[in-house]
Amino acid sequence: MSASICVPCGREFSSLSAFDAHQRWDYTQPPGRQVSCYDPAALRDRDGEPRFKVNRFGRWAHAAAKPPAAFNSRKESAREPRTRTR
Ligand SMILES: [Zn+2]
Repeated sequence: MSASICVPCGREFSSLSAFDAHQRWDYTQPPGRQVSCYDPAALRDRDGEPRFKVNRFGRWAHAAAKPPAAFNSRKESAREPRTRTR
């Protein structure tokens, strides 16, 4: 996995998808002003959980990234079971 560093804001990201998620492109703006950076700490998931957190390398990473299967049992036990309404 390679890190991505954002030139406009200087933040480091652990993955390209995390990097992409903090940028918004507006192609109606002139070149050089088309990209704007969101503060990863302010981005939330649909359920209100923080979408990104800084990992131990000081890079922004997906907070809810699916862990490898070997870590599932440990991670899942700490979370509340989700109830389906349908
Ligand atoms: Zn940025």
